[in-house]
Amino acid sequence: MSRSSSITNAFFNAIVPVVYPSTEEVREALAVLEMTPEDVRCSYCGDPATEWDHLRPIIRNRRPTGFASELANLVPACGKCNQSKGSREWETWITSSAKLSPASREVADIDLRIERLRKYEARWKARRYDFEKLAGAALWEQHRRNLEELLAEMRRCQAHALEVREAIKRGATVA
Ligand SMILES: [Zn+2]
Repeated sequence: MSRSSSITNAFFNAIVPVVYPSTEEVREALAVLEMTPEDVRCSYCGDPATEWDHLRPIIRNRRPTGFASELANLVPACGKCNQSKGSREWETWITSSAKLSPASREVADIDLRIERLRKYEARWKARRYDFEKLAGAALWEQHRRNLEELLAEMRRCQAHALEVREAIKRGATVA
């Protein structure tokens, strides 16, 4: 189950547009979050940042949400927050008791961080794309079919592997 879910996620991750920002845009984005390129912090908890996190998840419940990998939807984060947040909405997650969330780690000035993130959202306004419409029905349908076929093939291989294992077990009992 978890393997089919990560394959599904990979299939949709692969079609989400990636827009690379200019250095100037990154500088401006960091300024809204009250940071400088020399000292980039996690937007949620203030620890040193190790990655960029999608403020709005790009995949949820095995479906693309329509948000893209673009600066408007990316903020610096630490691994702890990124993993803890998962595909949740940042605003409910940040004050939730989820494992490793800023609130459960008793991070100081969460209200201030929420305020900055709201400012960030207002400044950049992440666009929500209709991927299916933009791709066109034919391309989109083929992508969906590819996924269905791959998942069906995986199930067939798993069932076969089980048969092989049972045969080996029977053989070993006889021997
Ligand atoms: Zn963090």
